[in-house]
Amino acid sequence: MSERATIRVYRYRLYPTKPQEAAMFETLRLTRTLYNAGLEQRIAAYRKQGKTVTAYDQQKELTALKAECPEYAGVYSHILQDTLDRLDKAYKAFFSRIKRGDKAGFPRFKPAQRWNSFKFKEVWDRKKGQWLSPGKPVDEGRRINLPKIGAVKCKFHRPLEGTPKTLQIVLDVDEWYAVYTCEVPVNPLPVSGSGVGVDVGTRYFAITSDGEFVENPRHLGKSLKKLRVQQRTVSRRKKGGNRRKKAVRLAAKTHRKIRRQRQDFHHKTARKLVSVHDVIAHEDLKVGNMVKSNLARSISDVGWASFFQILSGKAASAGRKVLPVPPQYTSQRCSKCGHICRENRNNEVFRCVSCGHEDHADWNAAKNILARALPSGDNGNGGTYAVA
Ligand SMILES: [Zn+2]
Repeated sequence: MSERATIRVYRYRLYPTKPQEAAMFETLRLTRTLYNAGLEQRIAAYRKQGKTVTAYDQQKELTALKAECPEYAGVYSHILQDTLDRLDKAYKAFFSRIKRGDKAGFPRFKPAQRWNSFKFKEVWDRKKGQWLSPGKPVDEGRRINLPKIGAVKCKFHRPLEGTPKTLQIVLDVDEWYAVYTCEVPVNPLPVSGSGVGVDVGTRYFAITSDGEFVENPRHLGKSLKKLRVQQRTVSRRKKGGNRRKKAVRLAAKTHRKIRRQRQDFHHKTARKLVSVHDVIAHEDLKVGNMVKSNLARSISDVGWASFFQILSGKAASAGRKVLPVPPQYTSQRCSKCGHICRENRNNEVFRCVSCGHEDHADWNAAKNILARALPSGDNGNGGTYAVA
C-alpha cells in the first residue's frame, strides 16, 4: 500500500434467494467446522509430539480434505484458506499476549453463535486492473457474484471507491451483508491550524479542550432499557424451547439496533472533530486500564475504543493526526501552572491549590491531554496550535 492511501470499509445489504441463503449458511457451517478441526489438530499435535502445526502445514492439507469430504469442494478455496489464516492469527495473537505479559486467553473453539462470517481474500486483479470473479458487481450493479453461491442481489446504497481488496460476507442476526475493504487514496483536508484534546468520561461522552461537552446519545438509554426487559424474558423461558429461541432473537435485534445507534453517533462525533482539527489527542486507553480499572470503566472502554478506531480511520483518510497520550495525572494536574495534586480536584470542580485556577474538572483534563500531545506546549494554552 502506498503511503498516501488508507483502508476504508464499505458495507452493503444482501438479499439472497432461499437457495443462496442455504448455501451461505452451509458455508458458515463448513468453515466453522474447519476452524475447530484445525484448532483440534494443533492442540493434539502439540500434546502428542510436542510439535507445532503451522498455517502452511494446514493449507497443504486442503486438497486432501476436499477429496475425503466432498462437501468442502462446494466452498470456494480462498474462503477455506482464509479460515485457516484466521486460526493462525488467533494463535499469533495469543503468543504475543503472552510475550507482553497480558492475560492470555487460549484460542477457543467456535460455537455457531460466534461464527458469522466468511471471507474472499482477493477480489481485484491488480495487474489487469479489473474485478476477479468473487465480489464482482454484475447485472448492472444490482447483484454481486459469489462463486459457488450465486449472483446475490445487493443494494449498493453508495458507490464503492478506490481499489477493492477483500470481501467478507457477514450474517448480522437475520440480515446478510457484503463488506468490502478498499484501498482509498488519502484526500487531505486543508490545514486548519487547530489542535484539540478529548477527555472521555461516563457523565459526558466526551469533553474537548475548547470547551465542548458532548452528551451521551439519549435514545440509547431507551433501547438499553428495552434490551434489559427482553433479556429478563429470555432467562425466564425454558432452555431449548421455541419460545426462548424467539425471545433470544428479539433481544439480538435490539442489541443490533443499539450497536448501530452507537456507531452512528461515533461516526458523527468523529466527523465533526476531524473536519475542524489537524491534531486530535486523547488518553491511551490501554495504559488507562491499568491506572483506573473498575467494571464500569472497562465497559465504557470498549465503547471508547471503537470510537477511537473510527476516529483514526477518518483522520487517516483526511490527512489528520490522532495522538494517544499517557493518561497519568491528567485529572489532577492544573492546566494553567502544571501543579499536580489530588486536592486540586473535587468531583466536577477543579481548583488549583497552588495558583487558584478554576475549571470544570474534565475540561481541565482535556486541556492537559492536548498539552501532552503538543511538542512544545506544556500548559494547555500554548504549543504549536491555537487553542480556544
Ligand atoms: Zn495551578
